[in-house]
Amino acid sequence: MLLPYTHEPFTDFTIEENKKDLLDAIKQVEAQLGGHYPLVINGERVDTTDKLTSYNPSNKAEIIGTTGKATKEHAEQAIEAASVAFESWRKVTPQERANILVRAAAIVRRRKHEFTAMLVKEGGKPWKEADGDTAEGIDFLEYYARQMIELANGKPVNSRVGEQNNYIYTPTGVTVVISPWNFAFAIMAGTTVAPLVTGNTVLLKPASTTPVIAAKFVEVLEDAGVPKGVINFVPGSGSEIGDYLIEHPKTALISFTGSRDVGVRLYEKAAIVQKEQNHLKRVIVEMGGKDTVVVDSEADIETAVDAIVVSAFGFSGQKCSAGSRAVIHEDVYDEVVEKVVARTKELTVGNPAEPTNLYMGPVIDQAAFDKITSYIEIGKEEGKLAAGGQSDDSTGYFIHPTVFVDVDPKARIMQEEIFGPVLAISKATSYDEALEIANNTEYGLTGAVITNNREKIEQAKYDFHVGNLYFNRNCTGAIVGYHPFGGFKMSGTDSKAGGPDYLVLHMQAKTISEMY
Ligand code: GLU
Repeated sequence: MLLPYTHEPFTDFTIEENKKDLLDAIKQVEAQLGGHYPLVINGERVDTTDKLTSYNPSNKAEIIGTTGKATKEHAEQAIEAASVAFESWRKVTPQERANILVRAAAIVRRRKHEFTAMLVKEGGKPWKEADGDTAEGIDFLEYYARQMIELANGKPVNSRVGEQNNYIYTPTGVTVVISPWNFAFAIMAGTTVAPLVTGNTVLLKPASTTPVIAAKFVEVLEDAGVPKGVINFVPGSGSEIGDYLIEHPKTALISFTGSRDVGVRLYEKAAIVQKEQNHLKRVIVEMGGKDTVVVDSEADIETAVDAIVVSAFGFSGQKCSAGSRAVIHEDVYDEVVEKVVARTKELTVGNPAEPTNLYMGPVIDQAAFDKITSYIEIGKEEGKLAAGGQSDDSTGYFIHPTVFVDVDPKARIMQEEIFGPVLAISKATSYDEALEIANNTEYGLTGAVITNNREKIEQAKYDFHVGNLYFNRNCTGAIVGYHPFGGFKMSGTDSKAGGPDYLVLHMQAKTISEMY
């Protein structure tokens, strides 16, 4: 029997010993820089002519490592391997599959600071965010293991006299997982092990900016006992193998986390039934957000300031849950804005591998840097720049936390996902208007409302259309098993990762009825 699930505790880096452990782990990771990680197909290491190179976003001259880069031929071999392995893996008991996840969690927990250090180096994550990412990955392993055990016998249905009915969940088939760089460990691991524990075989194509940590996780899965062919590691470019994997007639399930445009395209492509395909593909798509912190006139001001700053600038706003906009009631607008601007100006930015525990690191790459800085230029036209605005990509991709105030709710910086440390603030004349503004984007992922008024809380529960709604706190940092995560509207299929309904999305329910 497993102990009941509780989430992995976060590390307190104000404790000297923890700080030292992490700095040691950073040194250990630095000693491994430049390593090469081939593809894994059917349990074999496969070398490729082309390679993917992963760079440190804090120091673009530093290579984290290289991985193999899959071609269509490799993709085809991996799909074949996964199809063959599916025939045996689907019959491994749910309990045994769950045990593998628990063992993988134990391995990661023992090497926790090493994974965190890798996130610092490869993902540019500050310590707190990197530690949270590692903890969340452990949580997914532990939580989905328990969920699978609960679902192992299906759900109860009725039987008449002389009849034995069962309702069980069976695996779906070959699964393509395309994971993001912003939770390069947690989401990569979570979206990989959910199909595995439910009896599917997986092709993992991690984000091209963070493939090394994914390679390390594949090693953990192998150590924990995932058989050959069940997990295949196929980093590669989206244009070269992405469509091929999605359109392949043997692909049964696709789990994608990433940008809106790629997600929508993939969703459309997956709907087309290919020649020799005799099933409909299942698709889980988690995309963007333009998430709002609403501050009511009856709000606790310190709570509001905290919620806005943490939501906007945690991991430089590179979360689909980031609170990149705040809508503040006119009665408290000036006070909240003044405090948000002052707090923002105190935030530290730099290379997170330095021994000082910095609040913000770099953004992920040149494309992100260019996109975010161009939005800062747009913001200067659309609002008043109240903090930040500086950027520097000479060594790494550093952008200071930036606040625009007095922005029109329909302005581009209030509507479009920037995925960087840029906060836009609008004023509302009433609570109703604030909620209306909060709903006025195409996204519906997270949101927060800061108010002490119970009726207004109840109103927002009905009227604020987001998948994850928070009161009197920030709108980021969902915890596995506590805040199942996923969004409405163009944010995705609302699959609710880390929740009780997630695993079922990876399986096919089967009704079995026997007369005797
Ligand atoms: N689950 C994360 C959170 O609640 C966000 C995930 C993402 O940005 O993709 O902050």
